[in-house]
Amino acid sequence: MADKTGIEWTEQTWNPTTGCDRISPGCTNCYALTMAKRLKGMGSAKYQTDGNPKTSGPGFNLAVHADSLTEPLRWKKPRKVFVNSMSDLFHARVPREFLAQVFAVMAATPQHTYQILTKRPERAARILTDLCTCGSGHPPGEHFRSSMEWAATSHSPTYVPGLEHGIYHRSGWPLPNVWLGTSIENADYARRADALRNIPAAVRFISAEPLLGPLNNLNLHGVDWVIIGGESGPGARPLDTQWVTDLVDDTRLASAAPFVKQLGSIWARENNASDAKGGKPADWPEALRVREYPDTP
Ligand code: SF4
Repeated sequence: MADKTGIEWTEQTWNPTTGCDRISPGCTNCYALTMAKRLKGMGSAKYQTDGNPKTSGPGFNLAVHADSLTEPLRWKKPRKVFVNSMSDLFHARVPREFLAQVFAVMAATPQHTYQILTKRPERAARILTDLCTCGSGHPPGEHFRSSMEWAATSHSPTYVPGLEHGIYHRSGWPLPNVWLGTSIENADYARRADALRNIPAAVRFISAEPLLGPLNNLNLHGVDWVIIGGESGPGARPLDTQWVTDLVDDTRLASAAPFVKQLGSIWARENNASDAKGGKPADWPEALRVREYPDTP
């Protein structure tokens, strides 16, 4: 899907890959997995192969879609683009060459701001800091950057018309219009923040959604933005608003921007909220009504 979205912190979704496999408790009620099953049933072309039933599901096998690569080239109006609302861009089965093409598209469309959220920040760090070994002292990421530039040339076997314009020199590295984030649902996955710190990115962010436990003492050094949210939908797990309060405070202490997205459906039910997901700030305790964005370069 490359569509307008109801996600509060973005404006558009772009899915050059679809499908995924669950890797941690935050994935238990993955909305994309449920949605893929429905889209398969509706005959949507991107969702016709089934993933491993233990970790994935109908229509949710990891797939790359070269024909989706050029979509952002057609969007003239600048917008915030959530990359892969229906997948994880750094899933192990997304080839590096395809990642290079995705980054080439983002470099060629500096009018847009791209927000990539992954539960696999270790792979993202490895690829995006791919060290140059030619001995000439190129900075970290040089190999990946070269792959990205190569992907945009007409010599590349995977050339996509339209990418060659404006990618060189203008883009810089890391790309100034690409934000990189990781999801952390509870303290067991705090190590993802360490991997995130190793990723070269104009803006680094954490999505603590669904927040499943306290994240006190989470190291937010080098993090610019923290999104916080409770779970909604069937099987939603409870959220303690004290976890949210503490994380908002810690985010401010770290000079990062907090964005409270929703308090989840259990909180909404227990508090007679006007919105089933607990997504209306007017219903919340005043201290939690914060929706800030990071300073951008
Ligand atoms: S990593 Fe994201 S897309 Fe993949 S299964 Fe987990 S929640 Fe779903």
